[in-house]
Amino acid sequence: MGWKTLDDMSFAGKTALVRVDINVPFENGQVSDDTRIRAVLPTIRDILAAGGKVVLLAHFGRPKGKPVPEMSLSHVVPALNAALGREVIFVEKPSRDWIDCQPADAVILVENTRFTPMEEANDPRMAQFLASLGDIYVNDAFSAAHRAHASTEGVAHLLPSCAGRLMAAELGALEAALGHPQRPVVAVVGGAKVSTKLDLLGNLVSKVDHLVIGGGMANTFLAAQGKPVGKSLAEHDLAPTAREILAKAKATGCQIILPVDQVVARDFRANAPHEVVIDCPDDAMILDAGPQSVAAIAAVFERAKTLIWNGPLGAFELEPFDAATNAAARQAAELTRAGALVSVAGGGDTVAALNRAGAAADFSYISTAGGAFLEWMEGKELPGVKALETAPEG
Ligand code: AMP
Repeated sequence: MGWKTLDDMSFAGKTALVRVDINVPFENGQVSDDTRIRAVLPTIRDILAAGGKVVLLAHFGRPKGKPVPEMSLSHVVPALNAALGREVIFVEKPSRDWIDCQPADAVILVENTRFTPMEEANDPRMAQFLASLGDIYVNDAFSAAHRAHASTEGVAHLLPSCAGRLMAAELGALEAALGHPQRPVVAVVGGAKVSTKLDLLGNLVSKVDHLVIGGGMANTFLAAQGKPVGKSLAEHDLAPTAREILAKAKATGCQIILPVDQVVARDFRANAPHEVVIDCPDDAMILDAGPQSVAAIAAVFERAKTLIWNGPLGAFELEPFDAATNAAARQAAELTRAGALVSVAGGGDTVAALNRAGAAADFSYISTAGGAFLEWMEGKELPGVKALETAPEG
């Protein structure tokens, strides 16, 4: 890992520009979930403890380069104060002189970085302006690291830079899962469609030992192998692509595990009458993997040392079609608790599915960074991380 951490920097008497993701959800004018705020507290506290002043940079919503009052970060200040247990100073238009006049242990929050089009355009003038505000750049926003914006990428070329605690934890967990993992490695890829996860499947077959394909996307693979899928969600036009992925897996020695039995129903709704079949009838749709498939997955999990998971194995929002996802998630949680497995999961629906199964807390690491996590799993370089690796020395 070519990037530095907070421990490599000297913050005493310095001003740290800290890019955070505090894009928290609101309900009735209140922050409804402050997880993202709490997640960046260790970085803020450690910089303050080391004698640094903290200037927080963040985006909020998608204001598309213009000031939008409802997307002002001023709305987040009360929740930030409560989490931090002290007053944050909010500023719309900061200058270095103004920052220098604030107390040495101040925590300053700058208005939404996306209120100017220069942020998302990664305009060098904005990067220069941001760099003028501080001495050290700290990126703690892994979830924004797949974007090359002025506050996530540009500024890192201009100041000595490092990863914050959250970013370092996330990168460490991902490195343990796919960079230098303990083998065998099993990946679970589920969800609705193959088309949204082509890059992901392509990368995984060259990296992992076993690839479990589930959910709607498994139907596309079954259909490509000439198996009946009835009225199931399936992308029949992607049959050639699915066959290419299967061929690539064969060439790289990656074992693909597809469902061998199916839970089918006639309606896409909770508790729809259902049955377990090997071959889906013409008038039915596959909504979950059957018990033999769950047993096959369990056998692979049993031998695995590392698990990386994205996407549910069935229509998990609808009972009882959450059964395969729940069973696999709970087994992974148990193996992890017993110290036999390193388990990393991420991506929007995956976190919801693992929470529903009551398994999330026992996973080694759950990434809440949807887009960045997926791009990382796809083997893509994240500009925000790359920039930290090539930042100037202090
Ligand atoms: P994704 O966002 O691609 O991870 O897809 C998640 C969605 O896929 C969830 O809403 C699931 O209900 C859906 N899904 C999973 N398996 C199936 C299936 N067999 N048929 C229809 N939808 C499914």
